[in-house]
Amino acid sequence: MKQAGEGKETEIVVNRLVRSRRKTVSLIIGEGAELVVRAPLRMAMRDIERVVREKGDWIRKNQELMRRRGASAPERMYAEGEPFLWMGRNLRIALSPDESDVRREDGLLLVPDLPVEQRRLLVTRWYVGEARRVLTERVRIWSALMGLPCDRLTISMANRRWGSCNGHANLSFTARLVMAPADVIDYVVVHELAHVAHKNHGAAFWDLVGAQMPDYSLHRRWLTEHVHGMVI
Ligand SMILES: [Zn+2]
Repeated sequence: MKQAGEGKETEIVVNRLVRSRRKTVSLIIGEGAELVVRAPLRMAMRDIERVVREKGDWIRKNQELMRRRGASAPERMYAEGEPFLWMGRNLRIALSPDESDVRREDGLLLVPDLPVEQRRLLVTRWYVGEARRVLTERVRIWSALMGLPCDRLTISMANRRWGSCNGHANLSFTARLVMAPADVIDYVVVHELAHVAHKNHGAAFWDLVGAQMPDYSLHRRWLTEHVHGMVI
């Protein structure tokens, strides 16, 4: 039975629980402010719940932060000087009457001086092309290293996920991924190729990812921390 005053704070919902061969519990606040809990294989549910309760203040604070950041995601105008991430660095848009298509030159993203909707179209198309160029190369390299095939590579405009593996070995990546540094792109490539061997996120899956890339958790964190700037 609940006492008066209890339950005033909303209960914390665990959106996803991932068990793996690890020794401690880790909490991650995802893109949509959802709570992802990573826990050891055999840890009792009540112990996991206790950790979540103890970290309640931290979770609420960071979920609130994530929601606010989500609400203030940059509204793209493709205007002079506007920053766009590419391979982990910021390019600045330079509007040019001389260009007929988007092109990168050092730290600049040269964009034809056209109405905003056309600039949006051209910049989006440029990112899709860059993503296809970079990911084709990285998938080829990692596919050979891991001895796992990629039958088909698709570049999407997905907003909610970095990549996916459908069927046996059809890999798909969002064009936004090319905004991340090379190491982070490689992590997502390794992650999706590992799904060719393991369709779930079980211990064997993470073992395979970790064997290829021991510091992959750094790259996952980079994605979590930068997702709101990764808007085309
Ligand atoms: Zn996955």
